[in-house]
Amino acid sequence: MSLKLPPSLMLIFYVVLSLCSIYAVSGYKDVDDPAIRTMEEFSGYPFDETHSNTQSLSVDAENLQKQIDELATFSDTPAPSVTRVLYTEKDVIARRYIKNIMGLAGLSVREDAVGNIFGRWEGYEPDLAPVASGSHIDAIPYSGKYDGVVGVLGAIEAINVLRRSGFKPKRSLEIIMFTSEEPTRFGISCLGSRLMAGSEMLLKALETTVDNQNISFIDAARSAGYAQEENDLRSVFLKKGSYAAFVELHIEQGPLLEEEGISVGIVTAIAAPASIKVDFKGGGGHAGAVLMPHRNDAGLAAAELALAVEKHVFDSGSIDTVGTVGILDLHPRAINSIPSKSHLEIDTRDIDEERRNKVIEKIHESAVSIAKKRGVRLAEFNIINQDPPALSDVSIIEAMKSASKELNLTHKLMISRAYHDSLFMARVSPMGMIFIPCFKGYSHRPEEFSLIEDISNGVKVLALTLAQLSLK
Ligand SMILES: [Zn+2]
Repeated sequence: MSLKLPPSLMLIFYVVLSLCSIYAVSGYKDVDDPAIRTMEEFSGYPFDETHSNTQSLSVDAENLQKQIDELATFSDTPAPSVTRVLYTEKDVIARRYIKNIMGLAGLSVREDAVGNIFGRWEGYEPDLAPVASGSHIDAIPYSGKYDGVVGVLGAIEAINVLRRSGFKPKRSLEIIMFTSEEPTRFGISCLGSRLMAGSEMLLKALETTVDNQNISFIDAARSAGYAQEENDLRSVFLKKGSYAAFVELHIEQGPLLEEEGISVGIVTAIAAPASIKVDFKGGGGHAGAVLMPHRNDAGLAAAELALAVEKHVFDSGSIDTVGTVGILDLHPRAINSIPSKSHLEIDTRDIDEERRNKVIEKIHESAVSIAKKRGVRLAEFNIINQDPPALSDVSIIEAMKSASKELNLTHKLMISRAYHDSLFMARVSPMGMIFIPCFKGYSHRPEEFSLIEDISNGVKVLALTLAQLSLK
């Protein structure tokens, strides 16, 4: 371990450490230099159980639960449901609440032009790229209070944990609250992180995007105090390498960890969705008068394409490929009328981009051939988005693993089949994600729940992971 500090800093360090509870940990041995000792212990290399200091990582679980409950009251629907939509009054109050908690944790707070919120704990080498963690606090209508929130309040608590233990970061640690992970208001998911990742397409789209009340994105952002005249939205873009690492703590939103009784999920990859809109147009006609050989039924074309989606997904040969036709509308939607128009929306995901894109190609081929066979017109085949999946960084996976081991917590490697802000942060930074169990895998509903013990475990793993990464 090569750690060189100027003597004056070492002295300060020594004094600070003397005052810290870290000294109270049993098993502390005579060593030459307590600062270096601490760093080694936090870094996890080399790991030696006899003087592990992980006992000094104490989460203030009661306070964290209180914060989660308080944040949940900033909602447009009654408890236990939570509804918090981008730039609404409740969202603005919730943002104020987060900035306040960041301030109480001693972080210096700043916001960008779309309201991504950053809280920084400056490291002793502040010129190095910081290590970041964060998530979102917006909530789709009638959802729960843990999705995203655990990764924001939990990350701030991870900072408190490290401070209490006497840790000093080398790289600065930064907590990020991302704007609008959910697509509720403007139909754009991961708006904040997608823009941070430098999406020119999104930048362009935001000029004309309106919500269902015809309020423009820009006006909505301005009413919340963002996107002022002098703010160029392009200033939200981050350069690649802006962060040395990004780690997101999140509830699993699936049942596996709870079912298997495992404390921590270490995410190795995030599957990415592609969405496609398809329209068929046929002849229509009277359900009694038009005989079967003379029909051009747009509804049956849609039905056939839905089955083709399932077939192509199965044909990929991988359990990680999934496809869903979540919307299928027929026109004129009358029992005695042959559908003259049909509209499908297809979601397909995979952790392998090439494999997923091959499925999209096959779906397109099927749409063309089905239209031809049935004498209908393929009026639209529009790939709305086709985000690439992301792999977690190997060194971050190792840091998360060693943190779990050091804390004596069971862990398993898993894939995130839902996407998160991490999917976009992976474009500008090495990325990793920590999952914790949630009740029956429920999410996006009021019954969403995680035990505070599980949340606290996640916070500790995050704290130790951030500490390790900060020292690299
Ligand atoms: Zn989320």
